[in-house]
Amino acid sequence: HPDIRALGDVPRIHGRERSDKVALIEGDRSISYAELDRLSSACAAALVAAGVKPQRRVGFLDKNSADYFALLFGTAKAGAVLVPVNWRLAAPEITFILDDAQAEILFVGPDFVQAVRYFHQDFKTVKQIVVMGGGDGDWPGFAQWLGDVDAAVDPRLDGAARDTVIQMYTSGTTGNPKGVMLMHDNFLGNIQQREAAAEEWALWTDKDVAQIAMPLFHIGGTGSAFLGIYSGAKLIITRDFEPGLVLRQIEQHRITKVFYVPAVLLFLLQHPASQTTDFSSFKYILYGASPIPLDLLRKAMAVFKCGFVQVYGMTETTGMCTYLPAEDHDPDGNERMRSAGKPLPGIEVKIVDEHGNSLPPRVVGEICTRSVGIMAGYWNRPDATAKTIDGEGWLKTGDAGYLDEDGYVYIYDRVKDMIVSGGENIYPAEIESALFGHPAVADVAVIGVPDDRWGEAVKAVVVRKPEVEASADDIIAFARTRIAGYKVPRSVDFVDYLPRNPTGKLLKRELREPYWAGRERRVN
Ligand code: ATP
Ligand code: MG
Repeated sequence: HPDIRALGDVPRIHGRERSDKVALIEGDRSISYAELDRLSSACAAALVAAGVKPQRRVGFLDKNSADYFALLFGTAKAGAVLVPVNWRLAAPEITFILDDAQAEILFVGPDFVQAVRYFHQDFKTVKQIVVMGGGDGDWPGFAQWLGDVDAAVDPRLDGAARDTVIQMYTSGTTGNPKGVMLMHDNFLGNIQQREAAAEEWALWTDKDVAQIAMPLFHIGGTGSAFLGIYSGAKLIITRDFEPGLVLRQIEQHRITKVFYVPAVLLFLLQHPASQTTDFSSFKYILYGASPIPLDLLRKAMAVFKCGFVQVYGMTETTGMCTYLPAEDHDPDGNERMRSAGKPLPGIEVKIVDEHGNSLPPRVVGEICTRSVGIMAGYWNRPDATAKTIDGEGWLKTGDAGYLDEDGYVYIYDRVKDMIVSGGENIYPAEIESALFGHPAVADVAVIGVPDDRWGEAVKAVVVRKPEVEASADDIIAFARTRIAGYKVPRSVDFVDYLPRNPTGKLLKRELREPYWAGRERRVN
């Protein structure tokens, strides 16, 4: 749309062109595009009145909500920057992010007000706290803080296309979360790339009903929600992920398009209601954000019976870089099923060795990418930014993988999780995928543990299904039939659950810790 130059233009234009169309549904509440435009203008005006200057940060700590979008587009219209905070974090981590971002106002959800009462004195820069929903004591509620929505005037302080509009923290899978500065151009450029792909899954329309079940503090949640709103779709907000609720919403609202992480597919399939839910409205399931075991993908395709598109991307690239189209999903398991797909038009991908030299097809190295989606940088971390983005705009992803002759990328694993055993590089994701084929394995993580002879040895940490018996030896014997000898786990430990972050990613550094206690692990 030629008139869209900044994020704030999206509700402005929809507010005019499809004013009465429903934009957002959260529980019983439904918000039209015209209301979203008015709410975000009121929010922008209130931010300006509160003294929030352009490019200053405001924090958001709540579960998924419709009002998040009033704030997202409101901060955009005020030229300010929204910092959505992962609400599953502990108090010191939340304080770390708000201080790091120098947030001036914190918008806090009803579920977190009591907790924030205990530690808000620690905030260094937050001057005001606003409670989403009703007020709480001396803290105003969001509606009260907004004032008279109908009388509010859009301040139109959108700023430049390369101004930051969202500062989103990485998932913290491999270290401390880093504040990724995402610009208007990142989000709008991403849409253009999808339009250039000209494929049905990529172009959402105002006929689509999208379910927003992934957390909005993660690029997968906000990125797919932005695509939905940009397209004039109806968004069904899942406040907090709960498999039964997600399944009910699919049937009730006749959801057409979603983005799910693999762990969510697993939870939905494990829920008994998945056997009776009507999935016939589904057109496409986009999935990604962590590796998907082949057996899980096959099962999901059989149950949901719609187009499946894998996406690969990260916070630093404003989400998706590559996609595996539906037609490459052959359940009989050709090679492509293991690929994370090919770049969208306008996105470049290359594989480099440790010196930064490009590698030929089928040689494993670090995946690098360049596109308009690349972040402005890590907030306040020029060193980390310089290590990640080179002078020519190439971003190092931290993921290991290779390209095939047709430019399809195959992700092995995180460079940091690679196991080096007896000089061989071993990628845990491949072993995990193989072990998932064992009937007793409900969940599994593979890590490197210290080994005096080999440097590191492969260990599988397994959650067993209660109804199936299996010993460590059974699992090792099974692995021998599926993968090369040097990749077969030397040992298997059984646990009740695996540490995962809210987007379902295995926290391998946490899992490795007890085995490495007191020893330094060489990070690749
Ligand atoms: P941190 O950078 O703080 O360690 P993180 O990398 O998990 O956390 P995100 O930006 O949310 O934070 O995730 C991006 C990463 O997710 C990618 O670098 C990649 O490792 C993984 N990923 C994303 N999509 C896929 C996919 N389709 N298949 C496998 N892995 C994926
Ligand atoms: Mg990362």
